Amino acid sequence: MPQESSSIVPDEATFLKIVADLSTRLSTVDNQALLCQRLHEHTFTLVGSETTEIYFYNPSVEQFRPPSIEFGHRCKTQPPHVPKLFRTDDPHVRALKNNPVPTIVDNKTASDAFTQTGNSAHLLAPVVAGDTFTALIYFGSRAPYHFTNDDLNAIASLSAIIGSGLKNIDTIKSLKTSVSELEYTEQLRSALYEISEQAHSGQTMDELYYSLHQIVGLLIPAKNFFIALAETNNDETIVSFPYFSDVYDSRFQGKRLHLGPDDKRSLTSYLIESGKPLLTTPENFEQICQTNEIAYIGTQPTSWLGVPFYLEHMSGAVVVQSYDEIIYSEKDKNLLIYVARHVGDALARKKSIDDLRQSKTKAETAEKNKSAFLANMSHEIRTPMNGIIGITDLLLDSEITDKQYTYLTMVRSSADRLLNLVNDILDFSKIEAGKLELQIEPFKLRETLTETLSILELNAVKKGILLDAHINTDVPDHLNGDPNRLCQVLLNLVQNAIKFTDDGEVRVHIECNRQLLLEQEGHSSLHFMVSDTGIGIPEDQQEHIFDAFKQADNIKTGAYEGTGLGLPVTAQLVELMGGRIWLESSPQRGSCFHFTAYFTIFDSNDAEIKKQTSLLKKRPSSSTTPSYNILLAEDDPINQTLAIAILEREGWQVTLAVNGLEVLEKLKKKSYDLVLMDIQMPEMDGLEAARNIREQEQDNNWHQPIVAMTAYALKGDRQKCLDAGMDGYISKPIDTDLLRIEVETVLKQHQPQPERFQHN
Ligand code: ADP
Repeated sequence: MPQESSSIVPDEATFLKIVADLSTRLSTVDNQALLCQRLHEHTFTLVGSETTEIYFYNPSVEQFRPPSIEFGHRCKTQPPHVPKLFRTDDPHVRALKNNPVPTIVDNKTASDAFTQTGNSAHLLAPVVAGDTFTALIYFGSRAPYHFTNDDLNAIASLSAIIGSGLKNIDTIKSLKTSVSELEYTEQLRSALYEISEQAHSGQTMDELYYSLHQIVGLLIPAKNFFIALAETNNDETIVSFPYFSDVYDSRFQGKRLHLGPDDKRSLTSYLIESGKPLLTTPENFEQICQTNEIAYIGTQPTSWLGVPFYLEHMSGAVVVQSYDEIIYSEKDKNLLIYVARHVGDALARKKSIDDLRQSKTKAETAEKNKSAFLANMSHEIRTPMNGIIGITDLLLDSEITDKQYTYLTMVRSSADRLLNLVNDILDFSKIEAGKLELQIEPFKLRETLTETLSILELNAVKKGILLDAHINTDVPDHLNGDPNRLCQVLLNLVQNAIKFTDDGEVRVHIECNRQLLLEQEGHSSLHFMVSDTGIGIPEDQQEHIFDAFKQADNIKTGAYEGTGLGLPVTAQLVELMGGRIWLESSPQRGSCFHFTAYFTIFDSNDAEIKKQTSLLKKRPSSSTTPSYNILLAEDDPINQTLAIAILEREGWQVTLAVNGLEVLEKLKKKSYDLVLMDIQMPEMDGLEAARNIREQEQDNNWHQPIVAMTAYALKGDRQKCLDAGMDGYISKPIDTDLLRIEVETVLKQHQPQPERFQHN
């Protein structure tokens, strides 16, 4: 038996203490380096600290290595009398693999690893964690020693305890990894969700870039973060930096780098060109730049991590860089690849949403412009029409031959048709541009219907068909609404009915709308029906009959003229009147157009109902009107001739002024009963002239009657004239009857005026 001191196994009591102590200590150990530390400090000291060591299997080098190599600075240096390491092909190690029990190694047969220790006796014990051969424990004795069975058993127990300690560490480690993986995955998931949320939000691109930066910053160090976009035009690559947040180089924010074919690439342009993520460290930075002919622009980073992304017509990159000790890892790279893919998607989505918004606004503007253009064009057409219709009327009234009369009648009817068409276009475009509004006023329903039908009576008589109307007795007569628009709707429908009926009758019937469940007091919904016994409309065409520019096949033969605008305008007007329009029709049997409209009932005791003026034709008044002295402001020569002729035919005296300035001058010199004012005139327009006149009148007690005469017929034009101080308004083409009525109404309101000047 060797000396006590050289024995590696202490007495049983001490051994039990070692085992108990080791078990307790290992329960709080969570890594291998710490386990080694504990073994060296507390266990190996008791069994011979200089000749005992543990070796860990490292598969990458096929070696069992001591802590001093495996864990480096975190472990004490290796004890002096132990093997340096064991190779897996060492026969003693192999033997242990086959038979994992503590084994005595005879010095005579020992491999170099053992003999180099200079020890006299060796024992090698396997450490099995779970079922993996994880480590070896070497026990040596400087003095000759023979290990007993008790020794072997004791060492087997010790290595079993260490094995279970290692197993614990493994479990803790994998538990920790999975917990942090879980946390990381959760973090990543919420970051990606957040990125895609941001991409859908209504924020601007700049706001989106900022949010992306914040989100990436939650996952990796991203103090210096930028987003680059690259476009290629011909040979040139343009790299722009819509977002550049950086401690040193923030001046690149918003910059565009133009890289011609002869220029060196920037790191970013190289990244995008290569299509692969790029991670630089202090070691590889120079080499990467040199090999790829990259001229680094800006402050050189310690670590640079960039990932490219691709959009439809563009590519880009997300980059983080550090100037301090942060060195990005492969894990960071994988994360950024993920992020970049989403950033690319987000940008593409955002871009397509923005593009869509833009084109929607564009389309809406174009639509409005189109309607405004149509409205203006209609106005431009109405002005010369005014001349044609007016002069034709004058000629028809003069001494002409029968043949001339026939021709002129044809001119007049063509002009009427053209004017109707222009009015339809004007209405249509006004409706489209949202500029058409009803002019609500009190009117009498029965009177309005009679006058409307009287306009078309002659057409019906000429075609030999009966035109008849019936209003139920319970239908109120005194209503508030827009009689002109109601008249227009009825005219359209009755005109069509006459047009498409060659034989039989056209009937108008009005009754209270019984379908309206909620009949309010003071309100009335009326149901109008215009029926005919004409050609009818095929069922498959009925659905689209109210669409613009649609004509049913029944008339494609060319037998009937028309534009297909009448019904769409009619339908829109009906809608404006709070009703709806529909039809029943069968080919060859006839059609019935129904519409409803909403009115308030007018208490006739309260006020006198104004005589309807515009669309309803007036019989020429038989009473002779006094001879007024009119100042006519008109710049267009044809309209001058026409207006003068019309006014003189009324027996009125006319003085001409060609613009607003001349009106002011003429008024200074002489008084006129009324100024008939065109609006669009050179030098000074009618509105300005009217405002001037009213300003000058403030000092004296005089009010010059002014009636606007304009081809403008858009919403608000009448109000504009009244706001400028005018008293009345008539639209061109001039209707003689309407002109007379308006002039008389205005003069009645502003009479008698004191004479300012002596008439000369
Ligand atoms: P237009 O008569 O100027 O062509 P409308 O919009 O008024 O335009 O009518 C559109 C089409 O509807 C007509 O061309 C015709 O085909 C059909 N239509 C309208 N009213 C009748 C009717 N009473 N009978 C038969 N067809 C009709």
